[in-house]
Amino acid sequence: MTFQELKTAEHEYIAQTYARYDLGIDHGIGATCYGLDGRKYIDFTSGIGVNSLGYCDSGWVDAVASQLHKLQHASNFIYTQPCAQAAKLLCERGGMKKVFFANSGAEANEGAIKCARKYSRDKYGPGRHVIVSLVNSFHGRTLATLSATGQASFHANFDPFPPGFDHAPAGDLPGTLEKLTGDVCAVMLEMVQGEGGIIPLSAEYVQSVAEYCAENDILVIVDEIQSGIGRVGALFAYQLYGLSPDIATAAKGLGGGLPVGAVLFGEKTQSVLGKGDHGTTFGGNPVACAGVNYVLSVLDDAALDAVVKKGEYIRSRLLKMPHIVEVGGLGLMIGATLSPGVKARDVVDAGVTEGVITLTAKERFRLLPPLTITMEEIEEGLERVNEALKAV
Ligand SMILES: *Cc1c(COP(=O)(O)O)cnc(C)c1O
Repeated sequence: MTFQELKTAEHEYIAQTYARYDLGIDHGIGATCYGLDGRKYIDFTSGIGVNSLGYCDSGWVDAVASQLHKLQHASNFIYTQPCAQAAKLLCERGGMKKVFFANSGAEANEGAIKCARKYSRDKYGPGRHVIVSLVNSFHGRTLATLSATGQASFHANFDPFPPGFDHAPAGDLPGTLEKLTGDVCAVMLEMVQGEGGIIPLSAEYVQSVAEYCAENDILVIVDEIQSGIGRVGALFAYQLYGLSPDIATAAKGLGGGLPVGAVLFGEKTQSVLGKGDHGTTFGGNPVACAGVNYVLSVLDDAALDAVVKKGEYIRSRLLKMPHIVEVGGLGLMIGATLSPGVKARDVVDAGVTEGVITLTAKERFRLLPPLTITMEEIEEGLERVNEALKAV
């Protein structure tokens, strides 16, 4: 099939919900992938933070394939090893107590919201059910997680939304505390707003909000779906902020490319969801969890240090490129502001022409390279980004 044939078939049969790049890929290895015509691309996106070890890491493929040869699925009425092992690793390394496995980020956040509501109801009765998230946040595309998402652009056409959500101004402590009234059961935070433009919260703000929440028994939910699983140079971004959340969610990079999400429960919330309170058919799938276990085995301290160093290097190089005004983010979660009049999507499209795959995050230019990207791939990709910036 040629790319043109693929495009024609796609347009005919796939609901047109995505503004796709003018690019189809066929296979890849590491941070390098190949178009249907064999052309080479450097992928600085990991498939939006998902392929944490790049394309087809050989250890990951072996781990997943050998699980696939043993057992592809069992119902959640039956015990299986990979999910128990993955949960143990996530708890031990994340400082948490228990895990619920879901299939996506939005679903993980749904589980977190349900847990927070039930925690409060068990303890205080009905009425204390409001989840306060931040302006400019992104928490998913289901109706409840859209309610939590603090960006109006995602809300058009789909109301009415489930009630019981409110938004506080990110980084504004008095403005946030004002929202934490008697009917609030939890705050929901991204340590680094991802879809909102790669904008880290300040440590003082996060610590002050968490302190107020602890004093008032308001749960802190940290959405680590984009920032978690090594992306920022720690397993979870909350660890960089010295925070122990009551609930944390992960997905994107968790399975190294397989659809899996997780809700992590802390001390207070570990026993809130009991038998029959929550569930999902595919949750804890052994093949997906074999992927999780392999990803976590690769992300040791040396690998996380390398993420920090590669992030610093890419930032310093980007800063010297045309149209780049500012570069921020943490680890390999990188966002850049472009000079006025230069549109991030135009840079992305020029990148495809030059053979490098990149992202936007609102009006910012965004990179989420595989955590295992090599220096050679970084050099080659940056050279192509530089050409793309020159071309716009
Ligand atoms: C991507 C993302 C989600 C949604 O995850 P899906 O797997 O697309 O449902 C939620 N929160 C954050 C911070 C994300 O980046």
